[in-house]
Amino acid sequence: MAAVDLEKPFDYVVVGGGTAGLVIANRLSEDSDVRVLVIEAGADRSSDPLVLCPGLVAGLYGKDEYDWNFTSTPQPTLNNRVINQARGKMLGGSSALNFLMLLYPSKGNIDAWAVLGNEGWDFDSLAPYLRKFATVHTPPQSSKDLCGLTYHNEDLAKGDGPIHVTFSEGYNVTNQAWLKTFAGQGLEVTTDPRDGRALGAFQNQASIDPVTHTRSFAATGYYNPEVAKRSNLVVLTETLVEKIVFDTTGDEPVATGVEILTKDGEKKQISANLEVILSAGTLQSPQILELSGIGSKDILEKHNIPVIVENPSVGENVQDHPIVCQSFEVADTTPSGDVLRDPNVLNALVGMYQASGAGPLGQSTISVAYSPLVDGSGIVSPEAKKELLASHEHTLTTPDAQAIRKLVESPDEATFQFLLFPTQVSIPDVPKSMAEYILPVLPENYITVMTILNHPFSRGSVHISGPDIHAAPVWDPKYNSNLLDMELLARGVEFVERLVDKSTPFGKLLKDGGKRQPEGLVATDLEKAKEIVRKRQISVFHVSGSCAMKPREQGGVVDARLRVYGTKRLRVVDASVFPLEPVGNIQSVVYAVAEKAADLIKEDRKSL
Ligand SMILES: Cc1cc2nc3c(=O)[nH]c(=O)nc-3n(C[C@H](O)[C@H](O)[C@H](O)COP(=O)(O)OP(=O)(O)OC[C@H]3O[C@@H](n4cnc5c(N)ncnc54)[C@H](O)[C@@H]3O)c2cc1C
Repeated sequence: MAAVDLEKPFDYVVVGGGTAGLVIANRLSEDSDVRVLVIEAGADRSSDPLVLCPGLVAGLYGKDEYDWNFTSTPQPTLNNRVINQARGKMLGGSSALNFLMLLYPSKGNIDAWAVLGNEGWDFDSLAPYLRKFATVHTPPQSSKDLCGLTYHNEDLAKGDGPIHVTFSEGYNVTNQAWLKTFAGQGLEVTTDPRDGRALGAFQNQASIDPVTHTRSFAATGYYNPEVAKRSNLVVLTETLVEKIVFDTTGDEPVATGVEILTKDGEKKQISANLEVILSAGTLQSPQILELSGIGSKDILEKHNIPVIVENPSVGENVQDHPIVCQSFEVADTTPSGDVLRDPNVLNALVGMYQASGAGPLGQSTISVAYSPLVDGSGIVSPEAKKELLASHEHTLTTPDAQAIRKLVESPDEATFQFLLFPTQVSIPDVPKSMAEYILPVLPENYITVMTILNHPFSRGSVHISGPDIHAAPVWDPKYNSNLLDMELLARGVEFVERLVDKSTPFGKLLKDGGKRQPEGLVATDLEKAKEIVRKRQISVFHVSGSCAMKPREQGGVVDARLRVYGTKRLRVVDASVFPLEPVGNIQSVVYAVAEKAADLIKEDRKSL
């Protein structure tokens, strides 16, 4: 790459070349008249086989060159365990190390964003952007044969966006049995889940290129070789943004650029003529705001940071999907990813993948189900649901909580997401990295059923731990701090017993009298189910909301055009702006929000 002139001002400076940051950079630099700079802390690893090969993702976690590898504070409702939070530290951010599941949000969920005071952010307004980011491929015949996919609507979301989205060729009897078992519980999907309304089990898509069998993510999609040729787009990797620089001489502070630390340890200032766009992710966008003087006065003063804008909501409102992982030993003939523990098997599969992209390493075979509130007796009646929510009435006073209550009460919205995961999951009290959750340590072969709460009521926080960018922020998710979350989650765990019962197609694939994790614990009643939650709940890695888009007096950090309150020429665009956590896996919403934000920025340029 030719030497970049950093002295010459850029028009837009994007902080963080992750999932959202690269969307913004791509779309803004479509206009050759504007100069765009992206500054990314990690390196460009978009041709690294560990990043590209879907089945080798575990090799990325905990390694400094790929993963920020954050850890929560001890969680009182989880036996004081700490929870790992992998975050991508490379071009493409967390899209470079995620599990590639591609799901779409529900209508009611995104409509609630508008209800919370964000004009223009209802489902129908976001829907075009949910189409824009992806090229959705026709399912292979083998996946139709095994999983039906009768609900898949070919015309719904074809698109020609940069991210490839596809069904797998490698589904097996476990996926098939999963779908049948949910259907037996009255939970069969009949409409395309991408249309904003779906309850039941379905086979989700994945962000994998079906031709190359490689990960399709922000760096390969939005910063592909064609885009990289643009002379008006500069991507600076292995460079840390330390803070945003403001001109404070006017009535409101104006963002004029950033201060960076290069990989050679040199500090520099870079100017932005038009805007600074912060896209450092949910745990680091608030960190950069606080280090720049935007946040709670108490926190900033504690670290001797001059206050530029006082806003105690920065770093608050953090939401995350809690996930409870129960592993079940499989019968000898049932496929399990745990066989990869044998180096001979792994080497043979790597050889197969290298030769032609064939085999399980190029696939994602996780299956999904959405359900309303369920428990050990099946679907909970509307009256019982109302009664449970009413018994926690006193905690449901905020606009957020009221919006979530409506979603839980709605017959169309999914309270739970269940996942079928093809390997065992282990939960150490103090995991060194995400890899410790998913690498097989037990000698038996397992598959895992995961219970996820789509709409947690609890809210956590993330704040700086010192005045320096190198000090990791303190992330306290405060899981189940609203006890209703524990009540709901435990009911979902009770329902799992219905899925693994010997009489179901799924239960028949498990070993008769086989082991389960947590060992010996069966959710025969609510108390036992809660014990399972305490032992086996971790994060789905969907942290969001720390710079929430909301009215300022209701805890907002950015307005409905994603501009930071109290400033000029500064926006946040990443998962941190979500006012409410979306249903299911959230990368589709991050891409869509960033696509919409790019249009807002382009529109606003006309009036600058
Ligand atoms: C392990 C894991 C599994 C997941 N699985 C799925 C899945 O299967 N399906 C799904 O839909 N979602 C999944 N997700 C969630 C999804 O990938 C993320 O929510 C999404 O990618 C977040 O995008 P973002 O733009 O907000 O942040 P990121 O993509 O994380 O981008 C932030 C970027 O900012 C950079 N940065 C941070 N601080 C600085 C600084 N000071 N200076 C310069 N750069 C900085 C970071 O290095 C990073 O590149 C998963 C996430 C993880 C971690």
